[in-house]
Amino acid sequence: MDSNKNEIEDESKLLFPDHGLKFKLTSIPGSGRGLVATQDILPGEDIFYQDPTVSGPGLQSSCCGCGFYSKLSLSGNKDEIQLRKGECSDCGLNFCNNDCKTRWHSRKECDIVKKISDNSSCAIWLMTLRTLLSNDKSIPLLQEYSGIDENSSQENFTIDILSKQGFSKQSIKTIFRQLQANTFRCGAGRSLCPAAAMINHSCQPNSRVWFNSCKKLMVTAKRKIEAGEELTITYCSPLLGAPQRTNKLLSSKGFICSCSRCLDPTENKSYISGILCTKCRVGWILPQLTVQDQQRSFSFTWSCLDCQFVANTEKVHTMLSNLSKELDKLESESSSREKVSALQQFLDKRSKQLHGNHYLINRAGGLLSKALQNNSSKQSLLLRKQIIKQNLSLLSIVDPSISRFKGFELFRLHQILFQQVFSLSMKERSNNMELVNQMNETLIEAKILLSDDISRPEELDISYRMLADSLPQDILQQITNNIKEKYSLI
Ligand SMILES: [Zn+2]
Ligand SMILES: [Zn+2]
Ligand SMILES: [Zn+2]
Ligand SMILES: [Zn+2]
Repeated sequence: MDSNKNEIEDESKLLFPDHGLKFKLTSIPGSGRGLVATQDILPGEDIFYQDPTVSGPGLQSSCCGCGFYSKLSLSGNKDEIQLRKGECSDCGLNFCNNDCKTRWHSRKECDIVKKISDNSSCAIWLMTLRTLLSNDKSIPLLQEYSGIDENSSQENFTIDILSKQGFSKQSIKTIFRQLQANTFRCGAGRSLCPAAAMINHSCQPNSRVWFNSCKKLMVTAKRKIEAGEELTITYCSPLLGAPQRTNKLLSSKGFICSCSRCLDPTENKSYISGILCTKCRVGWILPQLTVQDQQRSFSFTWSCLDCQFVANTEKVHTMLSNLSKELDKLESESSSREKVSALQQFLDKRSKQLHGNHYLINRAGGLLSKALQNNSSKQSLLLRKQIIKQNLSLLSIVDPSISRFKGFELFRLHQILFQQVFSLSMKERSNNMELVNQMNETLIEAKILLSDDISRPEELDISYRMLADSLPQDILQQITNNIKEKYSLI
């Protein structure tokens, strides 16, 4: 017992040299290590922050250092000259700028990259190389990925490329798997923050992780956390149903979640997996999770809560997987009128069979809203508004507290309201003050939720500044206070 205690103390010193006041590292039964609050923490309070010890690109990144896509390539207006400002003239890798190159691209790394003939695949192996060269002493404390997809082609590819550069196959494999289990998505890339990697998952987390404009990882309380409570964050989208989350967590992180949301077939009465019962035609067929084999395998039983009818699991899973594939196919199609009508047809047809909050209905709505993005007809605006409102109402059930996701949705809603308000004449506008107020409120709420988030749209700050300049100070303050009160921020 004592040696374990000393071990945790040593690990804690390595991971949290400057922190450790609001929480402590401790062993959690069934979850290895975890962080537990040592004092009450208020909603919105920052718990700790960490600069990534290693960052690397993903497949969509334009910077091989921090992993960000440049703002230019995001708007589809890729400016080669701008991107090449930070190019390494020795090995040819691209960086946002010289600072990013200096921070992440060591001489040693450059010498190795030069020897690898094809560096266009670097999104797969560069972060593993960088971590192998890193001298961060907390890396050995990280757990390895132990999922079902064990010999992934990317892992083998990385081992193949880097073992030719003198690294042992075992050490490459270990680092690759540690990165798989412990990194956070930042822009289009990934960042390793070993301290934050100690926080365990829950589908109803009390904390959240985000990156501020200095690309520092922040851990912030989503709601009030009591002293003694374990800090948790989510590793997957709250807008998935339990079977999809379970598959995702097992394949990408290597564990099965059995939090209260996963064990509740209605998932907090959201009915996010609800299929209309084919027998009684009133109840919803919902999945009940059973975890077996000491948390290594699971099964779902699908049954109707009203008439107790038990559906054939295989049939249900095949149907859901076919519908998912249908949406994958529609998603990959380039934007066209056919895409819009195919999505509308999907929604019309499937809404008769799936609950209005069903994750596939939600996903189809999101795709439709995206496909209509450049269509500013009155009808399209109304439809998009309805889809966003539906999404926000689902979020208020499955992710009720402060979330960046909600911030992005609110800003989208604000943009639609803006278009609606500015299509009105002055006289019409003064008769539609409710619409104007909604437009202002959604913007202020989005600003509060996204605060200094690195991924927040540039237009958010511009619109907010314009509003703050035009609205009387006391009114702005009043709206801000009301929103903060809603999230218990004051
Ligand atoms: Zn960068
Ligand atoms: Zn280089
Ligand atoms: Zn869960
Ligand atoms: Zn039934």
